[in-house]
Amino acid sequence: MTKLKIAIQKSGRLFEDSLKILKECGISIENGTEKLKSVAENFPIEIFFLRNSDIPQYVEDGVADVGIIGENLLYESDNNLEVMLKLGFSKCRLSMAIPKKEEYCGIQLFNNKKIATSYPKSLKKFLTDNNLNSEIHTISGSVEIAPNIGLADAVCDLVSSGNTLFSNGLKEVHTILQSQAVLVKRNNLIPDVQEILDKLIFRIKSVLNARNNKYVLLNCPVSKIQEIAEILPGMKSPTILPLMDKNWCSIHSVINEYKFWEVIDKLKEAGAEGILIIPIEKMVF
Ligand code: AMP
Repeated sequence: MTKLKIAIQKSGRLFEDSLKILKECGISIENGTEKLKSVAENFPIEIFFLRNSDIPQYVEDGVADVGIIGENLLYESDNNLEVMLKLGFSKCRLSMAIPKKEEYCGIQLFNNKKIATSYPKSLKKFLTDNNLNSEIHTISGSVEIAPNIGLADAVCDLVSSGNTLFSNGLKEVHTILQSQAVLVKRNNLIPDVQEILDKLIFRIKSVLNARNNKYVLLNCPVSKIQEIAEILPGMKSPTILPLMDKNWCSIHSVINEYKFWEVIDKLKEAGAEGILIIPIEKMVF
């Protein structure tokens, strides 16, 4: 039977969320700690657990058809892969940082400086694009200590909260690129495999839509229905149900996570009461 082969990180930051999203798609995966490969029982998919940095090449070479990697790795590896979907986790940015006490006057500051990084190709592109002539020191980890030990004047590293930089006496001054986990595929998948991939993408989108939205139920006076319905975007239009008290009704709808508190404040102002918010498990369009 034809199967879609997907490569995910075997340990590290992407591992748990990659596995979680596949499981939320209803795919049952057995993952022993030392397993290299797992076959799902209820979906035609084989999962390869690989080192993060190896995944782009394995996918390009056809060992796997698709992979879940950080977008920054795609930029760094330059493999010929297509991004199918942004997955919304492992959000971070590749940024330039300098010692806190140093004044920052723009990217010219990096000219003729020593910069430490684990992402030399991405840094090189940034320097070339900006006509900067700097020395790149490639180190595989703990880049943030390089200025303290006199190895570099600045660093180029992945940042999410900024705490690591801050606690090492550095400040983030320029972002080169934004990154998050993405689903990538190689070119020329055979139609049967592409069909399975389309089904997987459909499921992942339903999971992501559900994560980004909440179900809302509220009570409001009948006289306020129009005003409240206009505040609620909903999927088509809100559901309106009568209550025992003829002067009141219940309105049901969906709110996007990003606008959540703003919408709730407006609903309260417009006279909504007893507002209940419920997580959505899947949202299928
Ligand atoms: P790692 O597990 O450290 O090899 O990182 C794997 C991927 O996780 C990277 O390619 C990035 O996309 C992402 N990542 C790395 N560092 C961070 C961070 N500080 N915050 C969020 N995501 C990160």
